[in-house]
Amino acid sequence: MSLAHAQNTADVAIIGGGILGAAAARRVATAGLRVVLFDRGPVNREGSGTTAGNLHIQAIHARRPGQQVPVDIARLLPLQVAASALWADVEDELGESVELRRSGGFMVAETEEQVGELEHKHVLEQKEGLQTELMTGDEARAALPLLSSKVIAADWCPMDGYANPLLATPAFLRDAVRHGATVRPYSRVTAVTAVTANSHGFVVETPQERWSVGTVVNVAGPWISEVASLSGIAIEMSPVAIQMLLTERQPPTLAHLVQHIGEGLSVKQVTSGQMLIGGGWPARTLALEGRSSVSLESAQGNAALAIRILPFLNTLGLLRSWAGPLAATPDEMPVVGEIPCEGTGRYLVAGGTYAFTFAPLWAQCLGALVEGHEPPVSLDGLGPQRLLGTDAKADDVPATAVGPATAVRPASTVRPASTVRREEHG
Ligand SMILES: Cc1cc2nc3c(=O)[nH]c(=O)nc-3n(C[C@H](O)[C@H](O)[C@H](O)COP(=O)(O)OP(=O)(O)OC[C@H]3O[C@@H](n4cnc5c(N)ncnc54)[C@H](O)[C@@H]3O)c2cc1C
Repeated sequence: MSLAHAQNTADVAIIGGGILGAAAARRVATAGLRVVLFDRGPVNREGSGTTAGNLHIQAIHARRPGQQVPVDIARLLPLQVAASALWADVEDELGESVELRRSGGFMVAETEEQVGELEHKHVLEQKEGLQTELMTGDEARAALPLLSSKVIAADWCPMDGYANPLLATPAFLRDAVRHGATVRPYSRVTAVTAVTANSHGFVVETPQERWSVGTVVNVAGPWISEVASLSGIAIEMSPVAIQMLLTERQPPTLAHLVQHIGEGLSVKQVTSGQMLIGGGWPARTLALEGRSSVSLESAQGNAALAIRILPFLNTLGLLRSWAGPLAATPDEMPVVGEIPCEGTGRYLVAGGTYAFTFAPLWAQCLGALVEGHEPPVSLDGLGPQRLLGTDAKADDVPATAVGPATAVRPASTVRPASTVRREEHG
């Protein structure tokens, strides 16, 4: 295929209109590159519109409920610190509020074993220069009397926070558009074909349009594998769906984020006054072509844990619950980097765990990679090579593997989520 057959041209095509796509589009557009962003539906509907929106700056707890492989919390911590610094400037840079709050958070422990985990992560945090504070249960309750007597220790991080997910992605996108980006909602990318003759790049097709671009950025969240397969690239992801609970509004009650070191819990009061309760509890279904559905069992477990740690929640009415898809990887670590495609343009990918927190940082990294520069933080161990199918892992993805859409086969290595029943057409 020749680039000349495509009707529109841009330097960069971004596939996915979640927070990673929006933040990357803004980063690339502000650098003066021509960028087009596609989403198969409305923007911000999937992981980024259903997220809890926590900015996780202190070392995280290593497992969602049901998660098989623990997160490498030491590897993530310097990246969380880097993301924290970037979030500090987001509202000034975007010129609008995303309800950014940095009111700090407690990570609590209920057992001696969990206290050991708090102590371990506190050491890591000190090494990274993060000013967290270990507290006894009584010290934590003195600071936050809402904590129950079950809490025997806590790690306090003043940098933990929140941004409203319904505001953040649209704000990044608006600024991208102000800097010249083109946004195409309801434009499912159906083909991504490498071009090697005459000029290097890709032709990106939707049912409505064809664009010739130099670089493709695949930030399609739980659909990263599906989008990669359009170019013959087999990348193994392990998408899951997790869920949230939301109470009725309350007067200002809970000023801080509360998490648990050993079990899946995050609770905070959002700007509207509602308590938003999560912690990575598995949804009933993961529906990649519809809406994932809420598990009552998870809702019960999540609520019981929340009430055990913050008993005042027992008096509140539950308003609603929802599930959202998450682009987990088999090793539960983020994926950010380039998939080498010999003789064509750059093919970049980003996604994975805590992508809301990492969005400004991954946007900076993607921007640097688009420009052919070193990213601002080390991405060692986070690149996509570890997730590529055997053929692609052995060598760079050959140009011949990046073929026309008609030659595409689904990535055979893509695994269904282990913790939820998969419902492809739910
Ligand atoms: C319930 C829940 C709670 C969470 N809580 C937190 C938290 O507190 N803190 C945190 O840091 N992270 C949290 N996360 C994770 C984080 O929010 C998400 O990982 C992040 O928002 C994902 O952003 P994304 O841009 O990578 O993907 P998404 O927001 O999922 O966007 C991907 C987009 O790609 C589009 N797409 C797919 N296929 C195509 C195609 N063929 N063509 C065009 N577009 C396509 C989709 O329509 C979608 O809009 C949570 C996630 C969930 C679900």
